[in-house]
Amino acid sequence: MKALTIAGKTIAPGESASIDLPVALLHTRTPLSMPIQVRRGRKDGPTLFVSAAIHGDELNGVEIIRRLNQHKGLSRLRGTLITIPIVNVYGVIHHSRYLPDRRDLNRSFPGSERGSVASRLADLFMTEIVANSTHGIDLHTGAIHRSNLPQIRANIDDPETRRLAHAFGVPVILNSDLRDGSMRQAASEQGMPMLLYEAGEALRFDELSIRGGVKGIINVMRALEMLPAARRSRSRKAVEPIVARSTTWVRAPEGGIFRAFTSLGMRVKKGEVLGLVDSPFGENEEEVRSPINGLIIGKTVIPLVNEGDALFHIARFGVVKGVVENVEVFTETLTGPEPEEPFEEPPII
Ligand SMILES: [Zn+2]
Repeated sequence: MKALTIAGKTIAPGESASIDLPVALLHTRTPLSMPIQVRRGRKDGPTLFVSAAIHGDELNGVEIIRRLNQHKGLSRLRGTLITIPIVNVYGVIHHSRYLPDRRDLNRSFPGSERGSVASRLADLFMTEIVANSTHGIDLHTGAIHRSNLPQIRANIDDPETRRLAHAFGVPVILNSDLRDGSMRQAASEQGMPMLLYEAGEALRFDELSIRGGVKGIINVMRALEMLPAARRSRSRKAVEPIVARSTTWVRAPEGGIFRAFTSLGMRVKKGEVLGLVDSPFGENEEEVRSPINGLIIGKTVIPLVNEGDALFHIARFGVVKGVVENVEVFTETLTGPEPEEPFEEPPII
């Protein structure tokens, strides 16, 4: 089994370590560091990294990683699990998506040692984490005031990435092969199978999204044989993720007060009224209609909108019916009386 060295610290098989990777010295001369947890099984296997808060206001992933690290099954780990709950340390301090120079870290990969603040942080992540891993999962939420149905984004043209995307077990997979300077793109270009989990809203915890994330990562670790296979209960239905061919945004036809008639996970028909935008006095009502048959996978949660604001994100499917059933099965398995994987979870409120 190969030696693993992160930030100058070597972790042997069977060992665990908490590492503070030095990022920068602030103007106050306060050292800023990125917290990393490494857990190595005694037996050889893949090295999976799981990262969160690359956008500093996206917090569901921070909680997903906290619960993942407490999972009892990890005592039987094969290979290595590296978790990084807070990648954008600057952003999390300020409750902000961005870095102090207003750059988006997830558009700055692979980065460089001599570039901007964002570029240097991206380079550090590539050198210390990605270069030491064989697989990756990056955890995100919707932007501020926008919520996402739990979904996986991945390049499913790559067979191994496709296998793991399906194993994660969320209702919807978006096939995307972006060239956007994201961590996912930079890691994929090095041949690494890489998943992006999107669920919930910025600056909020969403219990269903968190449970879905923990369960999905465990499912992927089982598919990678890092954890033993689950005992299947015969009565329980499994989520069979469906791949969306494309998606579309529905935008506000005018500025005003927005009332939504549809919510995340609902099926919509072409031409269906999804909501209304109106003036505060109700004399300027405009209907918002769906341009396609599909499923609502993203939605604004603030009723104040400017003309052109994104109101809904709709995924287009060949057969929408199966996806709606998927959403129901997904919700039931995470909220039912006997969750498959009992955690100490707070109630869904
Ligand atoms: Zn994000």
